[in-house]
Amino acid sequence: MTTHTSSPSPDAGRNASPYLYGEEAAAVAEVLQRGQYGHTDVTERFEQKVAEFLGVRDAIAVMSGTAALHTALLAAGVGPGHEVVVPSMTFCASVQAILATGATPVFTDVDPATLCVTDQLVMEAVTDRTRAVMPVLFGGRAVNLSGVRKELAGRDIAIVEDAAHAFGSHNGARRVGATGDLTCFSFGPIKNLTCGQGGVVIPRSLPEAATLRRLRMLGVDQSQAERGQTTSYGVEGFGLRYQMSGINATIGLVQLDHFDKAETTRRILWRAYRRALAALDGVRLVDVDVDHSVPHLCQILIPNRDEVHKQMKARGVGVGVHYPPNHLQPAFAQWRRDLPATEQVGREVLTLPFHQHLSENDIDQVVTALGQALKTAGAASCARP
Ligand SMILES: *Cc1c(COP(=O)(O)O)cnc(C)c1O
Repeated sequence: MTTHTSSPSPDAGRNASPYLYGEEAAAVAEVLQRGQYGHTDVTERFEQKVAEFLGVRDAIAVMSGTAALHTALLAAGVGPGHEVVVPSMTFCASVQAILATGATPVFTDVDPATLCVTDQLVMEAVTDRTRAVMPVLFGGRAVNLSGVRKELAGRDIAIVEDAAHAFGSHNGARRVGATGDLTCFSFGPIKNLTCGQGGVVIPRSLPEAATLRRLRMLGVDQSQAERGQTTSYGVEGFGLRYQMSGINATIGLVQLDHFDKAETTRRILWRAYRRALAALDGVRLVDVDVDHSVPHLCQILIPNRDEVHKQMKARGVGVGVHYPPNHLQPAFAQWRRDLPATEQVGREVLTLPFHQHLSENDIDQVVTALGQALKTAGAASCARP
């Protein structure tokens, strides 16, 4: 039996948190000393290690997950006049990456059991102008759009996975990223693996890998620049300043060395939440298959969410909301449509603290606080006329 102290620990006061394994600072100091700030062999080593880990040939490192999505969409030929199908229930970065290409987002609903899109929801949103479909691997859950794949066969429509939450998760026997789609990872501060800031795109082919490398490097073909001892370099097309610095890559290299610990800890913590939450009435855990996924967010659906959020904050628990639906955001109002499941999730979803600093005891305390908050919130709403 664990004994509960009355107030949750400072770790439980944070909804998410980066986790360092201890060797990052020394490794960064060394890279700084060597002057490898920019895209150097350090970045290339990180790309190689990520590719090996996932079981793919190429991984293209960029400065953020948003940059990964943007370059992946560009590499898929997405531009003005095109539509990209995307769930409204995602981080606003997915939508901004679409807008950066000049294309139009077409928002879809999600299955409230997984917070992910389904074949049917995607196909309902596909039109003649669709050029890409962007499933979001919410919370680390793999999304199998086998039906979409079948129906879209022969059409020039790319599946660009937003796998910002899903580094390390499996899709069947293979890691997410190794199943043949354009896949984008984020290595931002609070993701399963962090570079400080960073991202990676997994291309579908060798030519696509070359395109992505040019897109992230101002359109310059680096392989040519490196081959010749020339006084010039070739700008082969449009490009952005999106490469990953050696500093960020160094952090990622250390994190990747320890990723097995991230997988283990996140699974243990998830099972602890699942166990503890089962004892509470009126709470639905948005569950995840922890044998195949590396969980990223712990989310529940509850009535009276706003009041419970307030109560939990008052108790020092770091709750959050992932995400306010994008189709209801002021900036995206022109693409608004009726998405009943997303709107309900938007009202009911609460994200509990989930990061590698937590202990199983912290989780017991969070769930105890949740039980009390639910009681108080229930009473508060009954007392209102
Ligand atoms: C974090 C995140 C992104 C963007 O990644 P950054 O590295 O922060 O740019 C995109 N989509 C989702 C779902 C995310 O959680």
